[in-house]
Amino acid sequence: MSNLEDKPPEVVCEAARGGIEVMTPREVPLGGPRAMSVRRTLPQRARSLIGAWCFLDHYGPDEVQATGGMSVPPHPHTGLQTVSWLFTGEIEHRDSAGHHAMVRPGELNLMTAGHGISHSEVSTPSTTTLHGAQLWVALPSSARDAAPGFEHFAPSPVTGDGWEARVFLGSLLGTASPVSTATPLLGAELLLGAGTELHLDVDPGFEHGVLVDTGVVSIGDVEAKQHELAYLPPGSQRLTLEAVADARLLLLGGPPFGEAIVMWWNFVGRSHEEVVAFREEWMAQLAGGGYADGRFGVPVGNELAPIPAPALPNARLRERH
Ligand code: MN
Repeated sequence: MSNLEDKPPEVVCEAARGGIEVMTPREVPLGGPRAMSVRRTLPQRARSLIGAWCFLDHYGPDEVQATGGMSVPPHPHTGLQTVSWLFTGEIEHRDSAGHHAMVRPGELNLMTAGHGISHSEVSTPSTTTLHGAQLWVALPSSARDAAPGFEHFAPSPVTGDGWEARVFLGSLLGTASPVSTATPLLGAELLLGAGTELHLDVDPGFEHGVLVDTGVVSIGDVEAKQHELAYLPPGSQRLTLEAVADARLLLLGGPPFGEAIVMWWNFVGRSHEEVVAFREEWMAQLAGGGYADGRFGVPVGNELAPIPAPALPNARLRERH
């Protein structure tokens, strides 16, 4: 999906150090006549990255009749991958690298922007309830200029006493995703019945995030409730999650990213100049109200008018300190 804020803040993303933190989301309208909104937990002032995970949008359950559903016209991306994960509903994806895919519950759809891509995302007419997450992964310098791509993977659920897991990236609970990533990553959906205590063996080099979709979960001496994001610093070989009430969670992780990035609108870059140039290349493709080929290509079969980039802030985009 696209960042549709009128004046998207530019964020210098650097990891901080500390104990378990619980962060609350901010509501961000996605735009459109009836304006479906999302709950954004990353980036925020307190934290910008968890591993390479740099953007977490969580939405629904929304009745499409009331919100208009998702209708995000073509927009560009650079230097990142998008992870679409649905709980309910269906979204049609079209991108300029030639991929046309249906995003469905319990299935990973990973789009690599790399050097540049543009895509549209529209909930299908049969969707009555829309509920899911849109996550971005920052690509390291070694991979951020790579060719765009798209991967799909439907993990088989792993189950135990009072829990069920779908591991879509990385490995957990004795199962592993076949999808390769540019930096080590963990991504999994966890269902925990009330009272279930689940012990997870994890890489102590990873930091983790627990996004609570429903319910309440206790982690160490903190409690994270619905829509909150708990951050767990590196250094633990075992995480224990206890469901205070029936819970559905997304568990994300990876080693601290180690590179400062400049995020602005839908671009991940490394400097002010680079992001300004990305913006100019996108606007050049849209010159005269058109949608010409260029760095970001043109999605096949798309009928929506592409989204122009917002104005840059007056101040210079901040680079790493
Ligand atoms: Mn997008």
